[in-house]
Amino acid sequence: MAYTYDNENIFAKILRGEIPNDTVLETEHSLAFNDIRPQAPLHVLVIPKGKYVNYDDFASNASDAEILDYTRAISKVCAMKGVAADGFRMISNAGRDGVQEVPHLHVHILGGRDLGRMLNPA
Ligand code: AMP
Repeated sequence: MAYTYDNENIFAKILRGEIPNDTVLETEHSLAFNDIRPQAPLHVLVIPKGKYVNYDDFASNASDAEILDYTRAISKVCAMKGVAADGFRMISNAGRDGVQEVPHLHVHILGGRDLGRMLNPA
C-alpha cells in the first residue's frame, strides 16, 4: 500500500528540532526518546529519521541501511535500559484499528514492571 506522510506530525517536528525531546539514543538513521506520557517505568519511543508512516511502510520502502540501523537501535535501547533480562514489550500501532496517534513510525519499548497480558478482551 502507498502511504501519505504528514510533514506536520509531532515526530517530524521533533526530527526537525522544532520541539524538544528527551533523547535516549541517536544514530545515523534513528532516534530514541522517552515518551512524554509514560505507561510504565520504562517507556521509550524509537523512530526512524526517514519519513515512514508505520512499520509496513518502513519495512516495504526503507533502505537496508535504515532497517539495520533501526533494528539495532532498538536493541541498543534495551541494552542501555537493562530490560533484556527481565523482559519488555514492543508495540507499534498502525492506522485506525491500531489506534495510532502520531503518523510517523514508532516502536514503544515498555518495561520495568510486569506489564500484564497484551490486550484487553474486546
Ligand atoms: P501511538 O498511539 O502509538 O501513536 O503513540 C504515540 C505516543 O507518542 C504516545 O505514547 C504519546 O504519549 C507520545 N508522544 C506524543 N507527543 C510526544 C512528545 N512530544 N514527546 C514524546 N512522546 C510523545
